[in-house]
Amino acid sequence: MKTNFKKKSGNTLRVIPLGGLNEIGKNMTILEYNDEMLIIDCGISFPDDEMYGIDIVLPDFSYLKKNAAKIRGIVITHGHEDHIGAIPYFLKNFDVPIYGTRLPLGLVNNKLKEHGLKGKLNVIKAGDTIKLGNFKVEAIRTTHSIADAICLSIETPVGVVFHTGDFKIDYTPLDGEPIDFHRLAEIGNKGVLLLMADSTNATRPGFTASERTVGRALENIFRDSKSRIIIATFSSNVHRVQRIIDNAVKFDRKVAISGRSMVNVANLSMELGYLKVPAGTLVDINKIKGIPDKNLVIITTGSQGEPMSALSRMAAAEHKAVQIKKGDMVILSSSPIPGNEKTVSNVVNRLYEKGAEVIYSDIADIHVSGHACEEELKLFHVLLKPKYFVPVHGEYRHLRAHAALAENLRMDSKDIFILKNGNVLEMTPNSAKVTNEEIPSSPVLVDGLGVGDVGNIVLRDRKLLSESGLIIVVAAIDRASGEVASGPDIISRGFVYVRENEDLIEEARAVVAKALDKCMRENVKEWNTMKSAVRDALRNFIYEKTKRSPVILPIFMEV
Ligand SMILES: [Zn+2]
Ligand SMILES: [Zn+2]
Repeated sequence: MKTNFKKKSGNTLRVIPLGGLNEIGKNMTILEYNDEMLIIDCGISFPDDEMYGIDIVLPDFSYLKKNAAKIRGIVITHGHEDHIGAIPYFLKNFDVPIYGTRLPLGLVNNKLKEHGLKGKLNVIKAGDTIKLGNFKVEAIRTTHSIADAICLSIETPVGVVFHTGDFKIDYTPLDGEPIDFHRLAEIGNKGVLLLMADSTNATRPGFTASERTVGRALENIFRDSKSRIIIATFSSNVHRVQRIIDNAVKFDRKVAISGRSMVNVANLSMELGYLKVPAGTLVDINKIKGIPDKNLVIITTGSQGEPMSALSRMAAAEHKAVQIKKGDMVILSSSPIPGNEKTVSNVVNRLYEKGAEVIYSDIADIHVSGHACEEELKLFHVLLKPKYFVPVHGEYRHLRAHAALAENLRMDSKDIFILKNGNVLEMTPNSAKVTNEEIPSSPVLVDGLGVGDVGNIVLRDRKLLSESGLIIVVAAIDRASGEVASGPDIISRGFVYVRENEDLIEEARAVVAKALDKCMRENVKEWNTMKSAVRDALRNFIYEKTKRSPVILPIFMEV
């Protein structure tokens, strides 16, 4: 890493994205002004195909650790995992108050309980303004695919930073609270220094449809079907779940809920009043046996084909309570997140094989996105009239498209910054520039209980193991003479099936024996040198014979 000896210039606002740029996930942004820091969101991302065995991915907190005393608080825009998922890991390192609306904080609270943690959670409402040091944060109602989402208008000593959070413009949201456009216009009139806006759908023309259109499509399915209906959706999409329950009630069906996160979020949402379920509607998933197919709907997790989710288990015939049978109607009410298409189509195929009818986004209007398309983004730009613009929440192509959109609205390209995670945008009331600092922002990998202990080297090994398997060479060696007392033996996993390749294994043994012999003749007694000799000889032999490169692990025992 570069060391930067230049003194930070005082009285500037530093905007530092730790995550969320060139990726959809682990959103986290720092606003830093002299001795104070405000954090917006604290999310996780999910591992990509190359991250073998990794459960989740966190932002890098190391810059924050160095500046822990400066942090005034975290403000949460809404309750999706890519905005709140890293909070438990954050709170293991920092004692910092968290601000957000009721639903996201309820979800955070559940997570903290699972981790055995307590946090200083402060509920705010849309319309509230809170003061955190030099930052005055106003929460503004917005619409998204989860209830209780807000935009943030943050007054800083150098000007207003407006962060949209995730949003789409829904004029007819199910909870009846559209975006406060009057307030956006007022804020725009007073002057916005920097706009940071959601870019997820910046490559899509037009408008995102209202959540209500999904309601209509669902209603048609419920009206026409006499089958058992199984619907997979995001557990956090409380509005969608409400729509399903409304239709169930209307068409005389009981509702069973499957999947841990679906059960958790449904319970929390009912408790907080976001989800309204008439008494007698819900049935335990383990007690659905006697209910006629036409009177049952099962709401489940797994709309992204997640391997351990309830829907995947149903598709694999591994679900305890639900066996997919001929005639079942399965609905995947979400679009695959980029990268998940393959796992989703696997699940769809297996459901078809079991005789189910499957409806997914390719063939019906059963999902709408939670993110703004071009025309909606334009409205935000026009209302807020920012001096500077940073597109956020998107892969590079999304950020690029959003920047082009702003240019089309007559913004000067020098006032638009496509940042990378770890960049520092330094701002005064009439200037903005990217410094040459690089704040650490590499993905921090979580595997089981280990946080950050799996790095590039471990990942490389896992990749090699997954591609070509493992060969272990075991030998007992007399330390004093360097003589092989027993072995060498060869054990392999995931390389070739030993019983059908006895000749190859036998030859490999001979190669190892020869390498050890040579070490003894040359009086090499240092074990690491001997191990390298064995590894090199065996690697060359195996590659020549099979064109494969398994991981080779020599283990010597002293006798
Ligand atoms: Zn998001
Ligand atoms: Zn979101």
